[in-house]
Amino acid sequence: MVLDSLTLDIVATLVAALLGAMLLFLGRQENIPALRWWGAAYMLGAVAVALWTVVGNRYGQVVPLLLSAIGLLACAVVWNAARVFHGERPHLIGLALGPMVWIGSGMLLDPAAEAARLTIGAGLVAVYAMLTAAQLWQERRKHLQRRWPALVVPVLHGFVLLLPILLGNLLREANGAFAAAWVTVFSIELVLYAVGTVFVIFMLVSERVVSAHKRAASIDPLTGMFNRRGFSEACGRVIAREAQQGRPVTVLIFDIDHFKSINDRFGHAAGDEILKLFAAVVLNNLRISDLSGRIGGEEFAALLPCSLEEGVLAAERVREAFAASGVVCDDGMVDTTVSIGVAGGPAGTELDVLLAAADTVLYKAKRTGRNRVETAAELPLSLDGDRVRRQTAGFSPTIRTPQVAAPAEVTPH
Ligand code: GH3
Ligand code: MG
Ligand code: MG
Repeated sequence: MVLDSLTLDIVATLVAALLGAMLLFLGRQENIPALRWWGAAYMLGAVAVALWTVVGNRYGQVVPLLLSAIGLLACAVVWNAARVFHGERPHLIGLALGPMVWIGSGMLLDPAAEAARLTIGAGLVAVYAMLTAAQLWQERRKHLQRRWPALVVPVLHGFVLLLPILLGNLLREANGAFAAAWVTVFSIELVLYAVGTVFVIFMLVSERVVSAHKRAASIDPLTGMFNRRGFSEACGRVIAREAQQGRPVTVLIFDIDHFKSINDRFGHAAGDEILKLFAAVVLNNLRISDLSGRIGGEEFAALLPCSLEEGVLAAERVREAFAASGVVCDDGMVDTTVSIGVAGGPAGTELDVLLAAADTVLYKAKRTGRNRVETAAELPLSLDGDRVRRQTAGFSPTIRTPQVAAPAEVTPH
């Protein structure tokens, strides 16, 4: 059975135009520029197919050449949409180059050199399709399994966008039922891939939105560091990785000294500035391979893939740098000191165990004068139920033992 190719062309045009309008609308509503680029590509595709259906091969060489140039431009816009989606600027020269080469070669080549023109046209479409795939391939390390349609579809879509037009030329000459069947097949493919590509676009956009939300849920907005949840998740991965190599890990817990009094004397805003300053001190004095996060009000933690001895050196570096930061407010000098508890363990030691041990010695540092680093001599053999709950569910680490007057509870900011 051969489907009516005019009907198919009309369906292809309407589907492309509808999807294009939808993408343009959503791009505008959600303020996602890449969606507007993709929408524009669909509109161009729709225009190319519609004009081809109406005009066809009727007006000599120039009109079909210009119509296929519009199809090629749609491929170039798809590539630029992928660039914009990954935060790059549109490549306007690259955008115009393909259609210009196509028109130029069409004008210069002998009209009889059909095969040469087809090769150039297909080559240009292939280049744009490959550029699109390469753009998406850049993020290949992120969930490659879920991304394969994002690579396969643009490549095939790029070909399909122009192939009906290119083959239309050839097959019209072949002038048989076989040729008509092939044009039908390509028109159907065009519709399917147009729909498939929109599916891929939405997959990419929703993946982006989900990862933005996930990121927001694990980052502390004040300091830009991991929050407790982000820190625990990242530590889980690092501990597992280090355990495979049989390497030890060390945890540092930092608690800024007399922070309540900083707030009381200089105001909450000044307190926030000190928190940001401390975050910067931690980042500047740890290695890029170390993890750090803000795990409570004025409490921070770090996981270092190193021995306890190296961890203590890093802790001393942070302590000294913070004490030397010399913050001056309108009302005078601000004492910035921090107490630090350090605990190390053999490969594969759980984060909760290390945090509990570091937390215990941090308290010792507070009791014995503050502005000190204390090291855990041993790890707890087991974590009692309360402590485990506290460690895993956003605990309030300032309430540690009953031996001292209970300090005011940390109010999350
Ligand atoms: P210590 O030396 O024993 O650690 O005393 P401290 O004053 O640092 O400890 P305490 O637990 O008594 O006070 C912590 C304070 O941190 C109380 C709380 O108001 C303040 N805080 C918690 N989160 C924030 C925040 O996000 N911004 C500001 N400015 N203050 C915060
Ligand atoms: Mg404190
Ligand atoms: Mg505290």
